[in-house]
Amino acid sequence: MKIPGKLMDNERLLYDINQLNDLFRESANIQSLLDKTVAMVASHTRSDVCSIYLYNNESRELVLRATRGLNPDFVGKIRLKLGQGLTGLALQELRPVCEKDATRNPNFKFFPGIFEERYECFLAVPIVRGIGKIGVLVLQRKKGNYFDDSDITALEAAASQLANIIENARFLMAIHEPHGEETKVKTALSEKLKFIRGKAASGGFAYGPATVTNKKKNLAMLLHRDFDYTYSLDDFHGAIAKTAAQLEELQEQVGQKLSDAASLIFAAHLVILKDKHFVGDIVKLIESGVNPPLAIKQVGTQYMEGFATSGNSYMQEKTQDIEDLVVRLMSNLLSEAEEPDKFRGRIIITRELLPSDLLILSSEEASGIVLVGGTVTSHLSILARSLRIPMIVSDTYELLDLPGNTPILVDAEAGNAYVDPSEEVLERFESQQKARLTLAEQGHSIKPVTTTRDGTRVHLFANINLLADLKVACELQCEGVGLYRTEFPFMIRKNLPNEAEQFMIYSKLVELMRGKPVTFRTLDMGGDKTLSYYHDIREQNPALGLRSIRFSLQNKPVFAKQIRAILRAGAGTDLRIMFPMISSIDEFCQAREVVFECLKKLGKQNVEHNREPKLGIMVELPCVVDLIDDFAREAEFFSIGTNDFIQFMLGVDRTNENVAGSYLPHHPSVLRAMKKVVHSANQSGREISICGDMAHQEQYLPFLLGIGVRILSMDPHYLLRIQKAISGIDLDEAQATAENMLTQTKISDLTQTLNLNSVNE
Ligand code: PEP
Ligand code: MG
Repeated sequence: MKIPGKLMDNERLLYDINQLNDLFRESANIQSLLDKTVAMVASHTRSDVCSIYLYNNESRELVLRATRGLNPDFVGKIRLKLGQGLTGLALQELRPVCEKDATRNPNFKFFPGIFEERYECFLAVPIVRGIGKIGVLVLQRKKGNYFDDSDITALEAAASQLANIIENARFLMAIHEPHGEETKVKTALSEKLKFIRGKAASGGFAYGPATVTNKKKNLAMLLHRDFDYTYSLDDFHGAIAKTAAQLEELQEQVGQKLSDAASLIFAAHLVILKDKHFVGDIVKLIESGVNPPLAIKQVGTQYMEGFATSGNSYMQEKTQDIEDLVVRLMSNLLSEAEEPDKFRGRIIITRELLPSDLLILSSEEASGIVLVGGTVTSHLSILARSLRIPMIVSDTYELLDLPGNTPILVDAEAGNAYVDPSEEVLERFESQQKARLTLAEQGHSIKPVTTTRDGTRVHLFANINLLADLKVACELQCEGVGLYRTEFPFMIRKNLPNEAEQFMIYSKLVELMRGKPVTFRTLDMGGDKTLSYYHDIREQNPALGLRSIRFSLQNKPVFAKQIRAILRAGAGTDLRIMFPMISSIDEFCQAREVVFECLKKLGKQNVEHNREPKLGIMVELPCVVDLIDDFAREAEFFSIGTNDFIQFMLGVDRTNENVAGSYLPHHPSVLRAMKKVVHSANQSGREISICGDMAHQEQYLPFLLGIGVRILSMDPHYLLRIQKAISGIDLDEAQATAENMLTQTKISDLTQTLNLNSVNE
């Protein structure tokens, strides 16, 4: 028999769950949160029993954490594997399990003494967040009072709301767990996690002890701590001074190593630290008798909440800075400051990684990085490559629970990690590493001129992201810079670099290239390259949004400042300015107009600058192909950015691993479009180069040379290898290969041709 009327008071239930969230924030007592939840859900749903099982990622078990209606002695004791019992089934299959007669279901699991058998009507819904399993919410009623579809819908809504609250509570639970037990679990964990399959985000190998960083957890631990010792106002001022000194030193250290990228990483920290309201409010509390750590906690929390809940996204982003500052300040007060060089030689396992974090880790000489559960934008990955930090991305969240100092081997060539690797594994990697040393590292030196086997001249240029890349480029005597991605300093800094700052960076680049051609690509922001200080831009589809040259043309003052800095820095050198993502001749003309205006102004102002820069475009959009002859009348040079060109020709996100199999440089349309562009440029006497990744992929060299490409620009690390590969190619054969490839219509045939080519080499 079903009780008439609406059994679940849905809206009230959701409202009350929200209230629980507030309650939890105040008390941070997880057990009471769970107990209140089950009591409330049982009452609102008029159920005899409500229980919450939470899923333990390490043991892969559901554990009964709170119940209203069952024997409470079993809390913490009932454990179910995924798929075990009706509750385990709900989580395994990620669906509600609803039974009128639960004990008759073959999956029902009987636990003597819990008295579950008294309640025949059963409803379990999984609690999940994203793809993360959190637990199961279970309702039970006596025979006849069964659950229907509307009950299921309502309970699912409640579970989804609970998911966030419980997720927050879970890591606190881990903190409060007795230490010994945690260590035991963790030791078992490192036994279990031997081999981690991930995704390579940069290259190289690294081996060292692990440091697990979890900023959110550190903050929560500090904020929920008891402070036995009473500190003084002087102690607080001492902590302020120490924190400021540390930040300035860190800033300096990063600045020395990476002068173009490092500025102002800690600017917001230092401003807050010197803010008289922030410091004044804490001092007031201390003077009124509050212990300094609690005063920092109170004021810090107010600021963090203020930033986080402000409608302004720029302010919201600053939350991370204030969180970081509170941790530093508090640690200094408690004299628990992290020792300097704490990352040197270590493998950093982390859940979040900003470009600025990468800079700090690099300047402190961390050996490698495992980013857990994050997505790596192609530019975070390019940055890791520029900084020469082996980095992989993994979805194995258990890595975050590894005990500190666990030895880890990061293989960023294959994208894998080995936890506490055996001697055998280490030896294998050592010999592989030797074999993978670049030719330069093996003592080979580059020849000043690159030619094919039959003597055709090919020019090799370098792609530069950070000034740090120039070291290798100069050592290898590249013939110039074919692509300087100017957005890198913009992305990493916390503010827009002004003209003077850009001038300084660009001048260094020009100076180091000693008169060789330097191609500045103007700001190519947007897509996966975001500027944290530009917050007006929130787009559904950033790859197709306000990016690259479109951004520059809509922000002409920013664009003009960059052009001025480039023109000034390029005085007396072979300067080229290249506009990214050009889609029409009109766009090119508008961009060129900005350059002309800057030239005019600089002339009037009598400022030294380059008066005749060559102006060119990147060919990255398919819409350029049909207009290429017309472009050739306007633009002085072209460079095919194959990374984006392929992405937009094929409609495949270059950063999305799920569709990586469809991202194919040798798609027949890509090859034919490239041929058309190269042919047209050569016919018109316009310089044409390739600066996307295809330029360093050896299997495509015969095709590229065969269609008439004579300039390749690539990450300087590939220069030697590519020079050597080119010297083995005969141009006639390359032309025949290219012609053959251009007649083919099927990807599968082209794949075969490419494989055959690489076997022949
Ligand atoms: C490209 O698209 O090929 C290119 C070189 O530009 P980026 O990789 O910086 O987008
Ligand atoms: Mg591009």
